[in-house]
Amino acid sequence: DRVENRLFQNRYVVDVGRPHIEIRPHEVPSRELVAMTRVCPAGCYSQNEQGQVEITADGCMECGTCRVVCAKSGDIKWNYPRGGYGVLFKFG
Ligand code: SF4
Repeated sequence: DRVENRLFQNRYVVDVGRPHIEIRPHEVPSRELVAMTRVCPAGCYSQNEQGQVEITADGCMECGTCRVVCAKSGDIKWNYPRGGYGVLFKFG
């Protein structure tokens, strides 16, 4: 059983209006933010036409990568989703 198949079975519950990751507003994104558009395993980060980095946290796997990468720069606010929201890992 491949891990991708298992991941596919996880459910994601969107906490509407309460994103658990927020990006600090910016004109020009930091290197760290730009890196996240390539590094996030769930593809949550993207750059808009003006070059600013945006996040759609739906589908976030809570891997913590962006939290670590942006820890020093302070570009994002990262909280675990409230109980019952976010990725609900299916075991077994
Ligand atoms: Fe992507 Fe992981 Fe950050 Fe979620 S925690 S947005 S999956 S890098």
